[in-house]
Amino acid sequence: MKTVAFEKKARNVFFHILTQCNLSCRHCYINPEQHGYNMLSVEIINKWLDELYTENTNVIFLGGEPTLHPHLSLSVKHAKSLGYTSVTIDTNGYLFHDILDKVNPNDVNFFSFSLDGSTPEINDPIRGHGSYENCIKGVKKAKNKKFCTSMIYTVSRLNLNDLKNMPQLLMDLNIDRFFIQVIGIRGKSAKDSKKLQLNKQEWTSVIPEIARKIAKLGITVTYPKVFLEANEQFECGAKVSENFFIFPNGRVYQCPLCEDFPLHSLNFVNNKLIPTKKINESQLFDLGIQEGCVMNKLIQPDNIIYNDQGNPEYKIACCLLKETVS
Ligand code: SF4
Ligand code: SF4
Repeated sequence: MKTVAFEKKARNVFFHILTQCNLSCRHCYINPEQHGYNMLSVEIINKWLDELYTENTNVIFLGGEPTLHPHLSLSVKHAKSLGYTSVTIDTNGYLFHDILDKVNPNDVNFFSFSLDGSTPEINDPIRGHGSYENCIKGVKKAKNKKFCTSMIYTVSRLNLNDLKNMPQLLMDLNIDRFFIQVIGIRGKSAKDSKKLQLNKQEWTSVIPEIARKIAKLGITVTYPKVFLEANEQFECGAKVSENFFIFPNGRVYQCPLCEDFPLHSLNFVNNKLIPTKKINESQLFDLGIQEGCVMNKLIQPDNIIYNDQGNPEYKIACCLLKETVS
């Protein structure tokens, strides 16, 4: 297992090309009031891809459900022609507009499927009736067409106990990479956080061990570090790596935890990336506090525990810091 240092020489573009979705997952972090209701045209997406490209840049197309965009394939091909190092499409598996027939494995490095349970009984109450079956069908279709596939499992109290059943399913589906996500206290889940969010004991006693077990099957597993011991070094990822979270209303964030607020540090204006006026998220990145991440303390203080002297017992890592096991 290794903690992945923030990649200083790579740029990651998380490109939400629309916010519409055919599902309505309980923990969805998309917040159209903050992120926009519009679907970007292919012309605009491509101009923004031009603007964001530099050497060693990865793009992840997201939504909402990005395959609801009828011209996603054109932007995928544009990204590849510009030289983007990798192109990923995150999908709930419904794969609209025959996307698998319009792109090929040279265009798309990974299709990443979101599934939150090893059975419909676990997954569907979280992601919606029929979503398990459609996701599995989508994975199989992608595999038949020789695409590399990832699976993303967002862990909450609703499905923590089911994680142990995922290795068999991942093997059966021949999944290449597995991402375990922590529930983000953003969007809809912000209203339900106490029922959903795991504490330190729940996270550390289950996640690393299952990740190791899955890695032994030959599948690379990535999961967020979340909890740092008091002696571990804290770093704010926004200060040391380049991650851009793009939304269809033109907002560009460097910190995902800021996405529920108008704190974005950049904006697309006339298709150029322009810094926003202060105060914005970038002023938060320099605030060193003993709890670790300042945004965590502001929006989800319940995951910190204090000792009798009033000091935090551990720090919360930057949400961008990941462990990888392979
Ligand atoms: S599939 Fe993704 S975008 Fe759609 S509702 Fe679920 S979490 Fe939100
Ligand atoms: S999650 Fe916290 S530590 Fe990470 S970029 Fe945001 S403010 Fe910085």
